[in-house]
Amino acid sequence: MTPADVAARLGAVCEAMLAAEPRLTAADQAIGDGDHGVGMARGFEAARQALLTKPPATASEAFKGVGMAILMKSGGASGAVFGSFFTGMAKSIGEDLDQAGFTAGLREGLAAVQARGGAKPGDKTMIDALVPAIAAAEQALSLEDALMSAAAAAAQGAQSTAAMIATTGKAKTLGARSLGHVDPGAVSLSIMLAALAAHSDL
Ligand code: ADP
Ligand code: MG
Repeated sequence: MTPADVAARLGAVCEAMLAAEPRLTAADQAIGDGDHGVGMARGFEAARQALLTKPPATASEAFKGVGMAILMKSGGASGAVFGSFFTGMAKSIGEDLDQAGFTAGLREGLAAVQARGGAKPGDKTMIDALVPAIAAAEQALSLEDALMSAAAAAAQGAQSTAAMIATTGKAKTLGARSLGHVDPGAVSLSIMLAALAAHSDL
């Protein structure tokens, strides 16, 4: 996928995240402090503008620009988490986006998130949507297949967080009361990957 196509897909990710603000607010009101939708909207609005004002020359630059905008504008735990995720992804992605780069990028993004926040699978975070997405992308036979199956796996992973007890972040204080609610950041990751796959939310 060319840098221009990648920039267009990332533009769609920004639009999807802006449209999801009320849903993410509601999700964070249930088990957090309610700021997740607003924080993500701030970061992705900045990312959307960055993509428009300075069209990225490479796929890697496109992911890096989105990550930097989120790091600078989103705030909260998720600003650091998703900013690191996108800048981490940029490290493994080259000039164009191909399946190997996308899969390695997801892995690098996970490593960056874990280096930053120290959460593990099962802690009820966006990591629980990301880990199955990586496994699905690795099994795929083409880039489009990898994008689609990663998005589908992330959506399932996000749903699976409803059965988890939060052990990190603001939801930690709720303990077992976090059961039955999905993790807001995991929902965000699944929305991002669905839009990256040029698919409405899965
Ligand atoms: P805050 O927790 O500062 O209010 P947000 O509400 O914007 O930030 O984001 C909360 C989301 O961030 C969580 O739902 C979770 O998915 C993600 N998150 C928080 N801490 C971590 C972490 N250490 N590792 C991975 N993701 C995390
Ligand atoms: Mg919050």
